[in-house]
Amino acid sequence: MFFRQLFEPETSTYSYLLGCERTQRAVLIDPVASEIDDYLELLQAANLRLIYTLETHVHADHITGSGLLREKLGSKSVVHRDGGAMCADLLVTGGVLLQVGDLEFEVRHTSGHTSGCVSYVMSDRVFTGDALLIGGSGRTDFQQGDAGQLYDSITGKLFTLPADTLVYPGHDYNGNTVSTIKQEIAKNPRLGGGKTRDEFIAIMQELKLAYPKFIDKALPANQSCGLVVE
Ligand code: FE
Repeated sequence: MFFRQLFEPETSTYSYLLGCERTQRAVLIDPVASEIDDYLELLQAANLRLIYTLETHVHADHITGSGLLREKLGSKSVVHRDGGAMCADLLVTGGVLLQVGDLEFEVRHTSGHTSGCVSYVMSDRVFTGDALLIGGSGRTDFQQGDAGQLYDSITGKLFTLPADTLVYPGHDYNGNTVSTIKQEIAKNPRLGGGKTRDEFIAIMQELKLAYPKFIDKALPANQSCGLVVE
């Protein structure tokens, strides 16, 4: 399997390029519009054909590259049905299996950061978007966020994965690149170490985060797959 973790520094966003070496088919998880040229170069250098862009959710902090990639390469964009991005080609729900060459992804609905958040589960790793972060979690105060729901999603649908499953998040602000389910269950300060649902909700309520810098631009744009708009 071809695998590359890509970082966009302005919004500390991780994107992931995965390719099947037998069929040269590829997917890109959470592409960022400003990085399109890098993706095109990378795909060409690795001789990969982009089949899908997989969104973990409709982002509030950066503009997705899914629409531009669709225009340039004919890739299809995949988003959860509840994300509110009717521009997508595939509106999926939890339990859907996506097969791209020899790569297999299970869509797991991990709502709570937004109502339409999903994680993409592979046999040895999971792409958690902004649900579970390394030593953290996504915020729950915008986009139908719900702390109780996020706790249930993470503990019920991610912490139940095999302990050595690799965790690849949608962001990291501290230079971490990868974790494991075992590490997050043990050490995640918000919901690891046996933290209860009520404790998690209280922690999230007390965060007092600033209004997201790019939300007023990013949200409407991402509801149109990143193509637009004034
Ligand atoms: Fe987000």
